[in-house]
Amino acid sequence: MNLNVRVETLGGVGPTMAAKLERLGIKAVGDLLNHFPRRYEDFSQIIPIRSMKPGPVTFRGQVAQIASRRGRNRRLSITEAIISDATGTAKAVWFNQPFLVRQFPPGTPVMVSGKLEFRNSDLALQTPAIEKDEGGESKHTGRIVAVYPETEGLTSKQLRNLIMPLLNLTDDLPEVLPEQVVKKAKLMSRAEAVKEVHAPSSEDSMRKARYRLGFEELFFIIAASLAIKHEIKTEPAPKVKLDVAEARRFTGALDFELTNGQRQAAWQILNDMAGEQPMNRLLEGDVGSGKTMVAILAAAMAIASGYQAALMVPTDILARQHFQKLAPLLKKLGIKSELLLGRLPAAAKQQALDAAANGSAQLMIGTHALVSEQVKFKNLGLVVIDEQHRFGVEQRQALKQKAGHLPHLLSMTATPIPRSLTLTVYGDLDLSVIDELPPGRQPIGTKVIQPKDRELMYDFINKQISSGRQVFVVCPLIEDSDLTGAKSVTAEAERLKAGPFARRSIAVMHGRMKAPERDEIMQKFAAGEINILVATSVIEVGIDVPNATIMLIEGAERFGLAALHQLRGRVGRGEHRSYCMVASDSTAPGVVERLQALERTHDGFRLAQIDLELRGPGQIYGRRQHGMLELDMADLGDSRLVAAVRAAAEDFVTSKSDMLQYPQVVERINRLKSVTSLD
Ligand code: ADP
Ligand code: MG
Repeated sequence: MNLNVRVETLGGVGPTMAAKLERLGIKAVGDLLNHFPRRYEDFSQIIPIRSMKPGPVTFRGQVAQIASRRGRNRRLSITEAIISDATGTAKAVWFNQPFLVRQFPPGTPVMVSGKLEFRNSDLALQTPAIEKDEGGESKHTGRIVAVYPETEGLTSKQLRNLIMPLLNLTDDLPEVLPEQVVKKAKLMSRAEAVKEVHAPSSEDSMRKARYRLGFEELFFIIAASLAIKHEIKTEPAPKVKLDVAEARRFTGALDFELTNGQRQAAWQILNDMAGEQPMNRLLEGDVGSGKTMVAILAAAMAIASGYQAALMVPTDILARQHFQKLAPLLKKLGIKSELLLGRLPAAAKQQALDAAANGSAQLMIGTHALVSEQVKFKNLGLVVIDEQHRFGVEQRQALKQKAGHLPHLLSMTATPIPRSLTLTVYGDLDLSVIDELPPGRQPIGTKVIQPKDRELMYDFINKQISSGRQVFVVCPLIEDSDLTGAKSVTAEAERLKAGPFARRSIAVMHGRMKAPERDEIMQKFAAGEINILVATSVIEVGIDVPNATIMLIEGAERFGLAALHQLRGRVGRGEHRSYCMVASDSTAPGVVERLQALERTHDGFRLAQIDLELRGPGQIYGRRQHGMLELDMADLGDSRLVAAVRAAAEDFVTSKSDMLQYPQVVERINRLKSVTSLD
């Protein structure tokens, strides 16, 4: 059978079933084979009926009696069977499966797997799996049974019924990894792994199969990031001299001392820029750790060597804020800067574009507009991208065209990225971490707010407002159809006006508002004319209002801990003690416990690690950004796996002959390379 044909060609798959399968991403027959189990039930121990104890059991026997009746609730049908073997009899009960009576008439040899439980003092198997015992291979009983990611109306049993008959086709599955990788890492072949993952012949081989498939998943991702790294290394770099006097001049212009963390990061960056290859570095540091200063020092150094630098931030408001805040320092240093946004009065824009092109602007501050086609630079040596995403392949190409060479690249993020990810998807980046905050910062008092705490919380916030402080209220995006979150923000603002904050001035801000309108509100808020700003989390991630002391996050269960931690960093930027209220009305188990991690720790890395363990990488870093992080099999916490894959991938991408020998592997790596251009 051809694995590329649609699932409808399989017996028993009609349009309804096909639609359900499609919801799981299964369209072709081959997709079924790639729909891997989530977990397993071990029903492999077959025992005599007499020795059964409550719990999971499996036995062989014969149907002695079977009958269906209506339950007290008329819509419920109950099927009961007595099954016997040479040692005794067992009772089994099913609900709403009257067809079993026809399928398993008395005398049918069967295999049964399920849970033996007491119900109303009656010891019986509750809804066990049952199948005819015909001596062949069983699907649902008497073995380690696969449990799949399911969808409404499509059970693991149905999936097993579809997948098991296909497993004799797995022998034809081609190996996708290079031969020597399979050998060296002692991996199961792909063909065997796919078979064993669906129908394990033992626990050991199931583990080996999952390891192999996880290895494969990671191999291409890691190889792509390492390939990028090697490609960058072949580019000539702008030569930025590490000039100690210039660094002194810079620190002398500051009205504070750099922290050790900042010094260390700066040292690594300046060394990179003095090297032969373009820098490709990620600077990680908690909100408020002072990444911007490090970036400006790097810019000053590039400028001292005659290059231009660009600082790119996610939004207009942030760009303006940076431009204004940095102006005095840049003036002291004698650095000429220009602001470039997509939306600027025509004359201002032309001036900025000219200044970039003729080199009179040494530092360009702006948004994405900085890399748009119309922008020309005289001699761009360094690009810093703040809090957005890293440079993708296309962006790098575009920068190279603009500058005539690949400029040094520095990405900055407050999102703590666990080590396992820096070794995998971020494997192309060198990493600097600022692991301390400037001295004198107070920790932000954090509390998880449940419904019973709300009244007290509103009282507390009112007191803070009365003493002159300001408040952020962040609402999640509720509906997919309203990606701006406008609805939830507006509704929450109305609720607050009508209730606890009737006397306060409340403003809303969301993505559906025009930029000038948002700017105006932000300026009013910064000027203290607004008490409470209700906004979505995607808006203005880096905003700095020192008088705002309260961050209230509604629907907090919808956010990852790392994201909540970043929102928390929006307050505590001034002299006043600040607070973060993490509100959730969710009663789902574990929600409050998860959120309470924020009360205990202010360490962003720790929180990201907890996120990674509880929710997986896709949840932390967002699907849109990291489609490739939807790992089914690979456990990023498995450091042995990550190290083995990294070693294999490194070998592969640095060996010309291997690359020549395996064009398909190379093609797949190349495809992923452009996926890593996160847009
Ligand atoms: P982030 O890492 O979040 O981008 P910023 O660079 O915006 O942090 O710095 C936050 C604030 O701390 C700014 O007002 C900045 O001037 C100040 N700052 C930076 N470094 C230091 C330092 N070493 N000592 C004191 N304040 C600092
Ligand atoms: Mg910042």
